[in-house]
Amino acid sequence: MTPTGSAGAELARPVIDLHAHSSVSDGTETPAELLAAAAAAGIDVLAITDHDSVAGWDEAAAAAHEHGVTLVRGIEISCAWRHSSIHLLGYLPDPQDRPLRQELARARDSRSTRLERMVERMSADGIPVTYAEVLAQVAPGATPGRPHIADALIANGTIEHRDEAFTSWLGDDSPYYVGHYAPHPVRAVELVRAAGGVPVLAHPFTRTRSASVDDALISRMHEAGLAGLEAYHRDHGPDEVRHAEELAARLGLLLTGSSDYHGTGKRNRLGENTTAPEVLEAIEAASSGVTEVLRP
Ligand code: AMP
Ligand code: FE
Ligand code: FE
Ligand code: ZN
Repeated sequence: MTPTGSAGAELARPVIDLHAHSSVSDGTETPAELLAAAAAAGIDVLAITDHDSVAGWDEAAAAAHEHGVTLVRGIEISCAWRHSSIHLLGYLPDPQDRPLRQELARARDSRSTRLERMVERMSADGIPVTYAEVLAQVAPGATPGRPHIADALIANGTIEHRDEAFTSWLGDDSPYYVGHYAPHPVRAVELVRAAGGVPVLAHPFTRTRSASVDDALISRMHEAGLAGLEAYHRDHGPDEVRHAEELAARLGLLLTGSSDYHGTGKRNRLGENTTAPEVLEAIEAASSGVTEVLRP
């Protein structure tokens, strides 16, 4: 690429969205449909980052090639910190890495039993939902999560959008909430690095969480190998963005921006926040190279 600084070159900068979900976790589109949606939305580079799973990678890779979209293969690891769920994006890790695989499998197993317990509590309180209805919303082999309880309530006509279920029943501070096994965020950073991947803290300052991430935790994660912060995200207002920018300048972290698209499951639209090409280059350079960025 020739750095001309002209308006033409600015327009030619690729649209890079590094956070999106498929039906392999709580997105509403299959990996192939997700890549088709990305192409239709004018996305040049998309990262597939399903919760605790790499099961969508192969289907996404085939569809990315077909649609001419560059694919970054990643994950979003749920981490437990002070009774709150913190999300760590891991880009380009080796999917065969044993410790990483074991940790993801453990989290997924514990997610199933936890959803069943949440549904028991809800139905005991008169909320019309059964575990069978929830299971019907989870694609085979997918990571089960609270959004699937919301989907069951949509399917049986109780609500119209996942949002309503989270406001009324599914929030972290709800009496129906049950946690699941998840690694400490520092351990998750170490796992991603050991697997040759590049860890970026997802939407660090999301306001709906019961405990907000503090600078001390981010410092510890940085010492363990954290590479960046997802600053530009719809869960952040101007104050949160500024805080992320200050921290990144102080610690030498990358700053990313992404949609966190979930199909119709969330209002987030593909490409609503994007990442600079230089930042993607730095992420690629920091990875081991075992899992490559797939260019069509
Ligand atoms: P879990 O993985 O079971 O802890 O559920 C957390 C997931 O719920 C997150 O990954 C979000 O995608 C989703 N979520 C949280 N709040 C909402 C909301 N208000 N509307 C739709 N989805 C939500
Ligand atoms: Fe999600
Ligand atoms: Fe997240
Ligand atoms: Zn996400």
